[in-house]
Amino acid sequence: MTIKQVRLFNTLSRKVEDFEPLDSAQVNVYCCGPTVYNTQHIGNLRCYVFEDTLIRTLRYAGYKVKHVMNITDVGHLVGDGDEGEDKMLVAVKREGKRSYEIAEHYSKIFFDHCAQINIIRPDVVCKATDHVPQMIELAKKLEERGYAYFTGGNLYYDVTKFPHYGDLAKLDMENLQAGARIEVDFNKKNALDFVLWFTNSKFEDQEMQWDSPWGRGYPGWHIECSAMSKHYLGDEFDIHCGGRDHISVHHSNEIAQSFGATGKMPAKIWSHSGWLVVGKDNEKMAKSTGGFLVLDTIIERGSDPLAYRYFCLQAVYRRDLSWSWEGFDGAERSLQKLKSQILTLKAKGQKAEIDKSSEVVAHALVAEFEECMFNDLNTPTALAVLYKALSSEELTDESKLAIAYNFDQIFGLGMESWQQETIEIPQEIAKLLALREAARKNKDWAESDRIRDQIIEHGYVIEDSKDGARVKRKS
Ligand code: AMP
Ligand code: ZN
Repeated sequence: MTIKQVRLFNTLSRKVEDFEPLDSAQVNVYCCGPTVYNTQHIGNLRCYVFEDTLIRTLRYAGYKVKHVMNITDVGHLVGDGDEGEDKMLVAVKREGKRSYEIAEHYSKIFFDHCAQINIIRPDVVCKATDHVPQMIELAKKLEERGYAYFTGGNLYYDVTKFPHYGDLAKLDMENLQAGARIEVDFNKKNALDFVLWFTNSKFEDQEMQWDSPWGRGYPGWHIECSAMSKHYLGDEFDIHCGGRDHISVHHSNEIAQSFGATGKMPAKIWSHSGWLVVGKDNEKMAKSTGGFLVLDTIIERGSDPLAYRYFCLQAVYRRDLSWSWEGFDGAERSLQKLKSQILTLKAKGQKAEIDKSSEVVAHALVAEFEECMFNDLNTPTALAVLYKALSSEELTDESKLAIAYNFDQIFGLGMESWQQETIEIPQEIAKLLALREAARKNKDWAESDRIRDQIIEHGYVIEDSKDGARVKRKS
């Protein structure tokens, strides 16, 4: 199979670049996963929808992909700059359970939510707590190579030892160092230094602790991703993903650690999604500021969780996306309409196949779709190409279905599994529906409207299509 050229925005260069894999046999991708002290909100899920779209696009282009995701179950403090409590401890206090139980509980919810929006499970899911020896190994390397110092009971990374520290975030190091809140931890030589290993814990009740060359304690947050990406993907791999909040601290620290330990840049491409933002000030949806929503809220109100995936696909992944129920309802209506178009094609019993008469138009549309997706994952224009195909008068129904299924390898809406909802309609409603059909046949519109209103009063809505009317329970 020939591999198609994909172009991706690289945060390192701030440019859209031709993607050239390190090894043509397999593309290696590492994605920062959830901190499992709470349910991931729909802002977090936006980031995973982006990563899933990227992986699907690479596979569609012909690459074999290895997708690794970590689970943060230790060491992530409330503040990314080592301030505040360990997030897992926050949950221990909130719920009165053990850290391990909390991690298991929220990991399960996370993967359930991912499955409900058709996010493909990564090839490797790795927990931080299962990789402490690898983290200790890496921290030892950093100490040996002069990048780390031990003081006040903790091991710190010295950012001044790595001249490219600010490159990813385009940080103005001098001003940042001067302005940063050094008072947070007096042990730090420089304000941007960060902890590799805590022993002198400010959290006496930290349940998860391990022996180490620096004493019994636990790892800092950033070291886990350097250690696990190296363990599963090697010193150098293709793409590293996350939300854009990770650029300035977490990913800058990861690069510093990995480079310090191996002398190599860990990933070639650093790929970041924009935020889901809320409110009139477009603030990042975050647990700490409240006002966050989880997928269950969408499901409990009777909405299709896949409408959230569709909502994300309507926006360019790198831009922030503003959350509102109105916007979401619009996405859900569009998804319903798409579903009914696809179901109508399916109901005709068509095969999904591009036939001879449609070949030229179909191939042009597929090329147009690929141009959108391969040029830095432009999902909103790719969706527009899908609608263009569905409304084309030059394509047969079987070609339309084939094109839709083809595009859905990337959209991930699960079109092939969509089925007509069969609902139990009470006899009374079925009778009213038949009477309405008869009135419509007689062009008695007043009678037809009167019956429609009666049906609505019973809690049902009517959907008219060229294949006839059907009723649905009001949501
Ligand atoms: P966390 O569990 O806090 O480590 O976050 C998991 C992932 O979600 C990270 O890649 C974050 O960058 C990303 N993320 C957090 N908040 C948002 C948001 N409001 N919009 C998009 N991505 C986010
Ligand atoms: Zn990470």
